[in-house]
Amino acid sequence: MKESRYNLFFQHKSKPDIMVCYNARTNALAKINSDLYEKYLEYVETKKDVLAAKELEDFILGGFLINEDLDETEILRERLLKRRYNGNTLSLTITPTLKCNFACPYCYEQGDKPGKMTAELQDKIIEMLNVYKNFINHFSVTWYGGEPLLAFDVIENLSTHFIEICKSNNIKYDASIVTNGYLLDRATCNKLINELNVTAIQITLDGPSEIHNKTRILHNGKGTFEQILENLKTSADLLENHTVIRTNVNKENYLSVSKLNDVLVKEGLRNKIRNYFAIIRLPSENYDSESCFNIEEFTHINDSHYRSAQVPPEYPQLKENFCGADYLNAMVIASDGNIYKCWHDVGIEDLSIGNLLSTVDQIKQLDYIKNKYVYTTYDPTIDNQCSDCDILPICMGGCPLNRIEKKDRCSPFKYNLKQTLEDYLEYQESTSI
Ligand code: SF4
Ligand code: SF4
Repeated sequence: MKESRYNLFFQHKSKPDIMVCYNARTNALAKINSDLYEKYLEYVETKKDVLAAKELEDFILGGFLINEDLDETEILRERLLKRRYNGNTLSLTITPTLKCNFACPYCYEQGDKPGKMTAELQDKIIEMLNVYKNFINHFSVTWYGGEPLLAFDVIENLSTHFIEICKSNNIKYDASIVTNGYLLDRATCNKLINELNVTAIQITLDGPSEIHNKTRILHNGKGTFEQILENLKTSADLLENHTVIRTNVNKENYLSVSKLNDVLVKEGLRNKIRNYFAIIRLPSENYDSESCFNIEEFTHINDSHYRSAQVPPEYPQLKENFCGADYLNAMVIASDGNIYKCWHDVGIEDLSIGNLLSTVDQIKQLDYIKNKYVYTTYDPTIDNQCSDCDILPICMGGCPLNRIEKKDRCSPFKYNLKQTLEDYLEYQESTSI
């Protein structure tokens, strides 16, 4: 047996005789006493029979010790390819409209665009599912925009057909929605969750009222915080366990955004709705990129947010591929029929990979193929930067778009894995009985 290259061992923060063991390939976390750690080190160095059978078995089970001839990079490559070319699932992100009722300065979609999805295009999407239904056992949809609730009738119509087709073909169906929350009244919320199979809702609040209302504004400049908070309060029982609040942080708002946590606590929402910070990574032309954090800076802000809000930090998750953009059976369908790989490409026709409403010449076909494969042929296990990375199994090369655009794509775990695990353990230990 040899050591896994994805092991991370460190001394417990408050118990010096305990070692914490983490393996990024299996995501296992364990605590052992220092005597056992000494024996482990001796075993690795000398291969002498110093570990008891059960101890050896546990190290193998957690992936800390592996067979001499095992190539862990090969395992990651196999995982990636299996997931990327798995035809059992179809994942669609659908933008029922690109129109938005907000005019946020950092939005890459740049303001108010016309274009609700036509009945003809809706029929094409249903037709498409009727072809895929013969090959898949899971269909997953994300409603996206613009602001998707501005075209709620499209969501209702398509969802009804999707649910019916999936039910009669024994296909698991689930949906999620990314909304600004302004139109999420109780009736809409109830319908989404209880009738249209929406199991996950993401709403953005960029801080407490005085901060959020600086950027998350209507076209007439009016703030939106109070209405969104009212919607959250009115539907708190429905939203519980289904909802996350995303807070976009930059150098201008980060000192104040933690006050949002105080508002959530005061309104009795903190334990019902999880709040997380996100970095603004793709500034639009009319947004001052100087005010954005880089990933390393953001990582430290994020850590202190979790600590001050006294919520557990996000435990790392194993990644097979990174996101829908590098998964073959995932696509984004815009309200004009254009198909894309990445959410951020929507509206940039030159980056589309097809169009559901039109047939095109061969030259255009070649563009479509190029746009598709720029996302789906990258392999981080042979990339110079990533193949040697200690956290490759929980990152897998980072955001493909950032890679293509040569922007910082590393996971925050590259900078704070040990700190995250320490905070995670501290939280677990303080809450366990
Ligand atoms: S490529 Fe990056 S920006 Fe695009 S969907 Fe994936 S993670 Fe998001
Ligand atoms: S993108 Fe960065 S953090 Fe992710 S695997 Fe590559 S080198 Fe590691």
